[in-house]
Amino acid sequence: MNFDLLLNFRLHKLKSSRAPFVFYIILTKEWFLCYNATMRRILRLGVLLAWLGLNLFCQAVPEMGFFEEDSAGLEVKVFPLPLDDRGWTVNCYVAWHPDSKQAVVIDPGAPAPAVLEFIRERRLEVLAVLNSHGHHDHVGGNAFLAKKLAVPFYLHRADRPLAVQTTGSAIPFTFYPKEGKLVLGELEIEVIHTPGHSPGSVCLKIGEVLFSGDTLFAGSVGKPHGSSRAEQQANLKLEVENIRRLLLPRSPATRVFPGHGPATTIGTEKAFNTFLQ
Ligand SMILES: [Zn+2]
Ligand SMILES: [Zn+2]
Repeated sequence: MNFDLLLNFRLHKLKSSRAPFVFYIILTKEWFLCYNATMRRILRLGVLLAWLGLNLFCQAVPEMGFFEEDSAGLEVKVFPLPLDDRGWTVNCYVAWHPDSKQAVVIDPGAPAPAVLEFIRERRLEVLAVLNSHGHHDHVGGNAFLAKKLAVPFYLHRADRPLAVQTTGSAIPFTFYPKEGKLVLGELEIEVIHTPGHSPGSVCLKIGEVLFSGDTLFAGSVGKPHGSSRAEQQANLKLEVENIRRLLLPRSPATRVFPGHGPATTIGTEKAFNTFLQ
């Protein structure tokens, strides 16, 4: 199956039915930068409605949904884990080497028995849990997995306070190596530090697949952290700079699997993501 064609098809469909997509991007951008409490509430509602519209649209085109992929020596399975009863989900990924069956779990944002079941069924040997950053919706299932898997839980050093604060988690984290390369069995993982959404946000590249956490989404970027409008603006600038400098120069065919929403490619984001133009 040619996923590039499918992605182009999706973008084509989005262009011809672009209302939810455009609303989503504009509202998200405004929401990021708005500091008036009432306006923020209105914008948040708008973002939610646009997001639901976008999801309904994607579901109307079934092949645009989530898929299992065999990509250049790496297989990936996505588990969209529910975060609340309004339909928000986080993408938890299991990525494994097809021959050795050595695997990593990325961003278990909520307790996920289905992930454990899948690991058992496929007889995968999980070597580590990799967290893209310390927000609750990405580390919230760590404690659940820690009871079943005796493996290291990786996080960037700069996000430890965030993870502890949001989860109260007592799991001892292992920090990503500073030089950016993590070798686990036959899996070679490039750890790319891309602060902006959080101080310790990382993107993880394994083979030709990039797990982008909340840094880069299909058509959008992560909400910048900060306690004032000026700080948020500075972090949005930093995040976009990091994406342009560290991610966009990669091969256009690089698959991008974000922390939320559908998958995309570097080429698609370079061409269509309005935050990066
Ligand atoms: Zn986040
Ligand atoms: Zn998130």
